[in-house]
Amino acid sequence: MAKKSKNKDKSKGNVFQTLMSGRYGGDNYGLFLFVTGLALMIIGAIGNNVAGTILMMIATGEIIFAYVRLMSKKYDKRREENRRYLYKRNSFLGTFKIIWRTLKEGRRYKFYKCPQCAVVLRLPKGAGMIEITCPKCGKKFIKKV
Ligand SMILES: [Zn+2]
Repeated sequence: MAKKSKNKDKSKGNVFQTLMSGRYGGDNYGLFLFVTGLALMIIGAIGNNVAGTILMMIATGEIIFAYVRLMSKKYDKRREENRRYLYKRNSFLGTFKIIWRTLKEGRRYKFYKCPQCAVVLRLPKGAGMIEITCPKCGKKFIKKV
């Protein structure tokens, strides 16, 4: 009996490995879709009205899309989606980061977003024209500070 169940477990692992081999898997954008999908489902489940139904439909769409991406074999397309998502996220959060950090350290430093990945970079004030290399994505650009 024990032997039988052991074999079963082994074959289960193999099935999962075969299923996931060559698949794209998870990334930041996938996690975002899944988490916001779940949140919208919870919000949508409160109250039984038209708005709730619409939220449920959006949430279902997001979770299905997150799953499709997870199982996808189109690596380039998925990477590009993730890159676009990260740019938007960094750009959005970066605006608040720049305001906050300028208030704190604005006398000595200037803050910019990287033109490629939108990560916030801190630069010393009064250094003139300098070439900057983004520590996150490696993009080089010139800025006057
Ligand atoms: Zn960058």
